[in-house]
Amino acid sequence: MTEKNNKVAVVTGGSRGIGRAIVLALSGMGLDVVCNYRSGKDAAQETVRLAENLSGRVTVMKFDVADHGSVKKAFKEIIAEKKRIDVLVNNAGIARDNLIAMMKSDQWRDVLETNLYGVFYCCQAVTRQMLKQRYGRIVNITSVIGFTGNAGQANYAAAKAGIVGLTRSLAKELASRNITVNAVAPGYIETDMTSELPDAAKEAMLAQVPLGRVGTPEDVANAVKFLVSDDASYITGQVIHVNGGMFMG
Ligand code: NDP
Repeated sequence: MTEKNNKVAVVTGGSRGIGRAIVLALSGMGLDVVCNYRSGKDAAQETVRLAENLSGRVTVMKFDVADHGSVKKAFKEIIAEKKRIDVLVNNAGIARDNLIAMMKSDQWRDVLETNLYGVFYCCQAVTRQMLKQRYGRIVNITSVIGFTGNAGQANYAAAKAGIVGLTRSLAKELASRNITVNAVAPGYIETDMTSELPDAAKEAMLAQVPLGRVGTPEDVANAVKFLVSDDASYITGQVIHVNGGMFMG
């Protein structure tokens, strides 16, 4: 039986992949979780069903993290209904790969707007409430690519590196009010995002992983679970790399 507590968490892009594993991990800790998605309602409802099987409390909320107005409205509604937000996990992300020479400005903009502006919008939307509560845990999902760069992913790498700077700055802004802000940087994790890659690219990535296996969404969720727990109350402004040793930062 899950031990209930009155903490509320919001996970963006919680309907599939890493986000779904994070939703299940946090609901397994007894948190009341709001699972955001953009378009995949069936996947979001499947996440709720999986959580309920484990006695978790999860509700879904559709909004686009790249749309500032929708983000403000969604968080206003969540705060009005739940009266608090203790945990925010900025997980929603997309990739639109292309070499710089061929990259369309739409590909650059879409990735920056979802992966970086979206994180800014959501962080800003919870800040006042967390300051009032004098408590909060923010975890931003960046990527190994934000540290190493990758040919064909300049847009994605720029957004993910930007998340690290945002995380450290916000950690300094909020620390005095008992709000921690950290990031988790996954390596090669098996999800829809990576299943689309050509087999040769997958093999090349796996060859760079000293632990010799692809990561699971649960590997990433475990790091998030730690960062939002009381055991991590003295950790802020940090990045935890979950990559099987692929990059040692
Ligand atoms: P998936 O493609 O499997 O899932 C992406 C999730 O994000 C979906 O729930 C999707 O919802 C949601 N989403 C996308 N755009 C938006 C938006 N504008 N607003 C709200 N929700 C949105 O991705 P992963 O699980 O693989 O990745 C999750 C995070 O981890 C991303 O930030 C990614 O960059 C990062 N990451 C992943 C790695 C990997 O190897 N898989 C490695 C390093 C980092 P919907 O279906 O409704 O659009």
